Amino acid sequence: MTTAGTLNRGYFYNLDREGALQLLQQAGLKINDDPDEGRDEAASTAQYLGGPSDKWTLGAARTEQRFLRNQQLQLRGSSCSLCGQSFPEQLLVAAHIKPRSACSEKERMDTANVSMLACLFGCDALFEFGYIVVGESGVMQVGNPLPEQVGNRIEGLVGRKCRAHDEQSRGYFAWHLQAHSGKLINQPQRTFDPGPLTERVLR
Ligand SMILES: [Zn+2]
Repeated sequence: MTTAGTLNRGYFYNLDREGALQLLQQAGLKINDDPDEGRDEAASTAQYLGGPSDKWTLGAARTEQRFLRNQQLQLRGSSCSLCGQSFPEQLLVAAHIKPRSACSEKERMDTANVSMLACLFGCDALFEFGYIVVGESGVMQVGNPLPEQVGNRIEGLVGRKCRAHDEQSRGYFAWHLQAHSGKLINQPQRTFDPGPLTERVLR
């Protein structure tokens, strides 16, 4: 309405929260207060639903990381798969055993076995860069030639059994072992790899 009390025509109006909720309710939809909360976890932690046609964005990478981490926490509890130490959950990340970019679509969907939990106190990076590898029996050994500065970082790991190594994950560890056993090949990227068919959207 105008100040004179006549009708005013318009196209875009601010909608307050209450009005938005009512509209959604009338449309039979439910709103989630926290935009991040439960968006993907709520569906299921048994299967990641992202597929090859997904735009592989930073958002998608975060969503996948969240999914993988939650799934691993449920499966294995909050311990690092490499050093075995128990940590608060936020200090553990889901690490791809075989990098996402090297996985087939089927392997990517094998979320429970293609990833593991690694702590942010070094295990995640030592594994990703191949300084530590997991042998066929599941025992950790030295992989890529170690820079002098990190030598003592792997002392506690070599000879330990990796908690995530089992029949289902064996093939992924074998790939990692082969990629990093003693020869320094392509240094993995610390950032996500969008893969050949997908689109990178970074702002
Ligand atoms: Zn660790």
